[in-house]
Amino acid sequence: MTADELFATPLQYLKGVGPRRAADLEHAGLHTVEDLLYRFPNRYEDRSRLQPIVSLRPGQAASIAGRILSCGLRFTRRPGFKIFEALVADESGPMRAVWLNQPFLRDVFAAGQHVVFYGVVDARGGAGLQLTNPQYEILDDEDGETIHTGRIVPVYEKIGSVTPKIQRRLVFDVLQRLPSEVPDHLPEELRLRLQMPARHAALLATHFPPADASIEALNRFATPPQRRLIFEEAFLFQMGVLARRQAAASEQKTATIRVDDRIRDSARRVLPFRLTTGQKQALKEIVDDLQRPQPMNRLLQGDVGAGKTIVALLAALVAMENGLQVAFMAPTEILAEQHFLNISRLLQSSRFRVALFTGSTSTAARKQQLAEVEAGSVHLVVGTHALVQGDVRFHQLGLVVIDEQHRFGVLQRATLRGKGLSPDVLVMTATPIPRTLALTLYGDLDVSVIRDTPPGRLPVRTFAKPESRHDEVFEFLRGQIDAGRQAYVIYPLVEESDKIDLKAATEMADHLAQEIFPSDKVGLLHGRLKADAKDRVMKAFAAGELHILVSTTVVEVGIDVPNATVMLIEHAERFGLSQLHQLRGRVGRGAAQSFCFLLYQSPLSEEARERLKAMTDTTDGFEIAERDLRLRGPGDFFGTRQAGMPTFRLIDLVRDRELLDVAGVEAARWFETAAPPPQALDRMLQAWADRFRLMEIG
Ligand code: ADP
Ligand code: MG
Repeated sequence: MTADELFATPLQYLKGVGPRRAADLEHAGLHTVEDLLYRFPNRYEDRSRLQPIVSLRPGQAASIAGRILSCGLRFTRRPGFKIFEALVADESGPMRAVWLNQPFLRDVFAAGQHVVFYGVVDARGGAGLQLTNPQYEILDDEDGETIHTGRIVPVYEKIGSVTPKIQRRLVFDVLQRLPSEVPDHLPEELRLRLQMPARHAALLATHFPPADASIEALNRFATPPQRRLIFEEAFLFQMGVLARRQAAASEQKTATIRVDDRIRDSARRVLPFRLTTGQKQALKEIVDDLQRPQPMNRLLQGDVGAGKTIVALLAALVAMENGLQVAFMAPTEILAEQHFLNISRLLQSSRFRVALFTGSTSTAARKQQLAEVEAGSVHLVVGTHALVQGDVRFHQLGLVVIDEQHRFGVLQRATLRGKGLSPDVLVMTATPIPRTLALTLYGDLDVSVIRDTPPGRLPVRTFAKPESRHDEVFEFLRGQIDAGRQAYVIYPLVEESDKIDLKAATEMADHLAQEIFPSDKVGLLHGRLKADAKDRVMKAFAAGELHILVSTTVVEVGIDVPNATVMLIEHAERFGLSQLHQLRGRVGRGAAQSFCFLLYQSPLSEEARERLKAMTDTTDGFEIAERDLRLRGPGDFFGTRQAGMPTFRLIDLVRDRELLDVAGVEAARWFETAAPPPQALDRMLQAWADRFRLMEIG
């Protein structure tokens, strides 16, 4: 059997994998031998130096091997609390191991078994030493000595019925059968230059490390064999990104865009202020793209208030001056309206006509608008994200701007292509995305970032306070409202259907309205309200008719109310960091100093404490995003998995950033020198799409 045949072998054909285990493996996404081998152990244990029991000292982590003398459940005085206890002995003597509340161990252990325990040694007063909740393995097979002890052993995460020990056995057997001639995904020249081990050696040493390997480096996944495998995945990923870019580059726009002095003048005329350096740079990148023959796929990132809208509008102006139409899309009707008012005002003195498409436009008016857009007499259309997908037909659509895109993949190029369109696309987001995530999420998007803010903005002052200090915060709020300002009070609502939370928000609104601020107007906003009711509340708040807006997180994306200077978040410990930051971004939009209060319920978990600390430490969205990524891991970064994160087998986006960078550079270099033919690229793209499941955007 060749190596590739072995890699492709379904796991169910392996000795020791019956239907039950095959199903469990399958369920965890492990189908083939390759899947099994390209899965790191959770950790490594040095069992080459199993410690004699007599030599153990309290506080140290130790592996011991011995026989079970006796074992059983012990009941304690605390009702319902059970301890399973085993007495184990090696040649040097006996010791105890105990597990708290794991009564099922009764069916796992029996006297006479040969076992390995791994855990931290505790001193038990006069009772000697013990291991509490140690990891365990029962060694009953004859070759236990070579695979499971007497060396550094890999410890895999349990998969249903497939224990770490069974997996170790499976991996060991497969590696025994793996021919030394394994085709290598990495070009030889590159591998040698980077001094990386060959694939075969890397797989071997990753799963069964040599005796002289550093256990500490192994557990950091930093040994050369491990890094080689990580690099391999990163390299293939980056090649896929490049292949996709190359495919995108073959698409051609129907119209060409030029920029001359007349257009620059026209832009200057609509510009109400001086652009910041960040805005200028972003605009330059966008306008450069507009002038290329291929459609632009660009993401414009900038924290809330960074001033993305004007940049997009200037880009729109360039397109319109070139005789093209622009679709400007927002996530909600109210935001669309806001953009419409803004843009109409800025374009007032120009010759361009702007239309707003919303659900509330009357049928007759809509018909009229549709006709004008189709005829080309309306130049810029503002609407919600459904705009381009809907029944709107353009005369010549040149640019699509998508604002506040949180759900990736909403607008797919394929949809546009289906309508015979290949416009430039500019996606804007206020969700600051850490660099490595941006790379993987938007592999084939170009990214512009505005990191500075318009002059004169005061950073929001943020305070975390325990719930018990509510009164102080209300008093402060009182002062702000008396000074003519407005405030948000946010309640967590994890699920829209969460009645209890909804009740809490409703009660809070009543409480504030009746008892705390009886002479002020308090509004309530939540996801259960119908769209027009929501709009009404938001508009009343924006117009200053409401002083306090009690809301669930539906207010997160959206509205610009510069007069609101207080953001009070209840149960702040329940929110994710990026979400807290988004909420805070609702204030600090005017010239006055704004404040954010994070009220929390004690005791705080370690992670919640970190989140609140990050919020009080910094207002820099990118810094927040980095911390969030570290706290939550990439899988949870967007709250849900379905956000389209590519699934890596070995890469950890936080740990392996620098390897990803190197892989990016090397992949680009390889692409240039090897110039792969189109068929090879197609195959690569297919394999890549299956493998990384990156979403389509742009
Ligand atoms: P966001 O990036 O969150 O979409 P906006 O585009 O809504 O931010 O801009 C926020 C506010 O800042 C708006 O009122 C806008 O007019 C203003 N603004 C944007 N750029 C500048 C600038 N260079 N100088 C002064 N004010 C600006
Ligand atoms: Mg905006």
